[in-house]
Amino acid sequence: MSFTTDARGELARVKTDDICCARSELASALLASGGIAWRGRGRYALSVTASEAATVRRYFGMLKKHWGVQGQIRALSGDRLNGLTRYQLAIPEEESVRLLEEFQLLDESALFGVRQAPGEEITRFACCKKSFARAAFLMCGEVSNPEKAYHIEIAAPTEAFALRVKACLDYFDIECSVTSRKSKTLVYIKRAEGISDMLSLLGAASAVLALENIRVRKEVSNHVNRQMNFDSSNINRTVEAAEALIRDIRFIDSELGLEKLPRSLRDMAYARANNPETPLTGLGELMDPPLGKSGVNARLRRLSEIAQKLRSGEEIRLGSGKREKEFREQGTGKQATGNREQE
Ligand SMILES: [Zn+2]
Repeated sequence: MSFTTDARGELARVKTDDICCARSELASALLASGGIAWRGRGRYALSVTASEAATVRRYFGMLKKHWGVQGQIRALSGDRLNGLTRYQLAIPEEESVRLLEEFQLLDESALFGVRQAPGEEITRFACCKKSFARAAFLMCGEVSNPEKAYHIEIAAPTEAFALRVKACLDYFDIECSVTSRKSKTLVYIKRAEGISDMLSLLGAASAVLALENIRVRKEVSNHVNRQMNFDSSNINRTVEAAEALIRDIRFIDSELGLEKLPRSLRDMAYARANNPETPLTGLGELMDPPLGKSGVNARLRRLSEIAQKLRSGEEIRLGSGKREKEFREQGTGKQATGNREQE
């Protein structure tokens, strides 16, 4: 069963008791299914054809309840329908004109005397706007499986009909677009939220639930995928940076000798080379005294600068080393002073 079939099956069973809504649905169903045939001399043959038996039973019931009209349901099948069975509700010809008047579909100035959209009165109330759009969907609507795509459309027989469907949806702030394709005018929505709103307006609660479940699952898995891509690219960046630095450290060692570096840089060089996967904060903890992330960064940057200068043959000033030397001398000095005091 397709998503469309499920949604249609559900809509065909939506309860509508009011005669105003029955008028609107039937007007819409007759137009959308191309069920008004001109027989000449003011006579018409009316029928509603659908792919679901439940849909024609729905309109059979409405005609009987509100106008006492007894329709006839028959199954159509054959090669012309690609082996598919379709169901047709045929309305007795003697009732045609009365019903067309009731549905505000007659207009002497229109082609064959039939309008392409019913009089405005038919879709005046909110309940009738819903009904009009529902019948349009039952007759010529499709909704894609949300696993694959977000798309709902009504392939309207005429532009006038499409614009009426759009007006009905607009009333409920459901944004839809209109475009023409071959001989049809499409009313469609491509956003999951809009599709969900439209199905729920028409009364397909289970279809909405199924769509929302799929939508949430897709959003969660998209989010997880994005997060995983993000994390792994971060990890890759960290590992790449560490590898580049280890190459620099080896280079410094072979060209200059790590022992020539000031102690602060030498310790950092050994820590990095021996712990290629340790994050910066972890490297900082290996230092004595421990060092913050920015301090670690500064020393690593200094190491790669030294490597770069060695490669390009630039002169290297181990400035921090000098400071360190001074510090050591001061330390020795203090010690010496202390010793002197002891003396
Ligand atoms: Zn109504």
